[in-house]
Amino acid sequence: MEKYNINKVRADFPILAREVYGKPLVYLDNAATTQKPLCVLDAMRDEYLNVNANVHRGVHYLSQQATDLHEAAREKVRAFINAKKTEEIVFTRGTTEAINLVASTFCESQMQPGDEVIVTEMEHHSNIVSWQLQAMKSGIIVKHLPITDDGQLQLSALSSLLSSKTKLISVAHVSNVLGTINPVEDIIKIAHEHGIPVLVDGAQSAPHFKVDVQAMDCDFFAFSGHKMYGPTGIGVLYGKEEWLEKLPPYQGGGEMIDKVTWEKTTFERLPFKFEAGTPDYVATHGLAKAIEYIDSIGFDAIQAHEQELTRYCMEQLMTIPDMHIYGPFLPLLQEGIGEVTLRDAVVSFNVGNIHHLDMGTLLDRLGIAVRTGHHCAQPLMDRLGISGTVRASFALYNTKEEIDVLVAGVRRVAQMF
Ligand code: PMP
Repeated sequence: MEKYNINKVRADFPILAREVYGKPLVYLDNAATTQKPLCVLDAMRDEYLNVNANVHRGVHYLSQQATDLHEAAREKVRAFINAKKTEEIVFTRGTTEAINLVASTFCESQMQPGDEVIVTEMEHHSNIVSWQLQAMKSGIIVKHLPITDDGQLQLSALSSLLSSKTKLISVAHVSNVLGTINPVEDIIKIAHEHGIPVLVDGAQSAPHFKVDVQAMDCDFFAFSGHKMYGPTGIGVLYGKEEWLEKLPPYQGGGEMIDKVTWEKTTFERLPFKFEAGTPDYVATHGLAKAIEYIDSIGFDAIQAHEQELTRYCMEQLMTIPDMHIYGPFLPLLQEGIGEVTLRDAVVSFNVGNIHHLDMGTLLDRLGIAVRTGHHCAQPLMDRLGISGTVRASFALYNTKEEIDVLVAGVRRVAQMF
C-alpha cells in the first residue's frame, strides 16, 4: 500500500506542533473534531480578505465570484460522495442539522401517528433525539435494532422489527463509540425490498473511507465538515432527488423561495428549497479545500494508515492488565491491515474500575487529548452497562509514536490506582 510522508502531512497542521502543560500535544480526539490543514485556513482567510460578498443575490462581481466558489464546493461534495447531481447536495450546519431536516420534513409529509422509524442501539443522540422530538409532536414510534455484546448490529433482528408501519430506517455508517462499520448496504437492500428508504449517518465514515452513495443506494446521507479537516458549521445532507422533491421545506426565509405573495408562496428548485438564509459560503469553500486535501493523499493510503494505527493501538492497549476494549475486536486482528475490517479509527476502552473521567483528566496532564464520557450515546452506554469510556480516535496525521505515548500514559495512570 502506498504510504504518504507523515512528517510533511503533520507540517500542514501547525497546531500539532504545540505543547500543552509543557508536553507535546498528542491529539486523539478526532472523532469529535479534526484539526484543519493550512490550505483550508488559508483559503477561508483569502475568501474573507478578497472575495467576500453574499451569494446568489448580487449582480456584482464579488457576489458572482463568491457564488462560483460556493457552487464549485457543491460540485466537489457531489464528486466526493459520487452523488448523481448537485441538486442532491444540501448544505447544512452539520450532521445533526441534516438528520433533523429529514426527521422533521419526512415525518410531516410521509408519516402518520403510529408509523415507525427504526434506528439502532449504537446511534449518536442526533439520530435518536431528532426522531423522538417528532414522536412527541406527531405520535410516530421510534424502534431500535439491538447490538451484540461485541458491538455489532443484530441484523437478524431487523425482519422482526419491520412492519407495514415502518416508514424509514436511520442508521450510523460507523459508530462513534465502538468504531463498528455497519453493513449499511445489507440494511438498505432489505429496506428497499420493503419499499422503505434509509438514512445513513456518515459523520464517522466520510472522513475515513470512500463513500459512494450511488453504489450504497442510500436515500439520504449526512456528514459534517469539521470531522474531515474542514471548518465547523458546515455539513451536508445528500438526498436522492426523488425524495428531496417529495419533502417540504425545512425552514422559511431568503434563498429558498421562488415567489412570495400574501396569498401563496412557491419554493425554489433543489437544493435551494432546503437552504433558507445566507449559507456559510466561506465554510463551503473551506470544505471543498478539505476534500481536495483528502483527495491529494487518497483514501487508500489514509485508510491503510488509520487501520494500522487502530490495530496497533488495540494490540498495545491489550498489554495493560484489566483493559477492556469495546466493539468488534478479533475480526480486525484476524483480517489484517488493508483488508475489509469491521472497525474504523476509534478505540473506546476502560481499565478496571478506573473512572473514564479520571483517566481522561490524568492523560490530559500528559498532553494527551482523548474523549471521555458517554460520547452522546447514552442508550449504547446503558446497553454496555457502563457510564462511559475513554475514547482515542485517529486521523490521517496521527503516528504510532503518539499511540506509544497514549499507551504509556494509560499504563502509568493504571498503576496509580
Ligand atoms: N453522528 C455521529 C455518528 C457522530 O459521531 C456525530 C458527532 N459526534 C454526529 C452524528 C453529530 O455531528 P455534528 O455534531 O457535527 O452535527
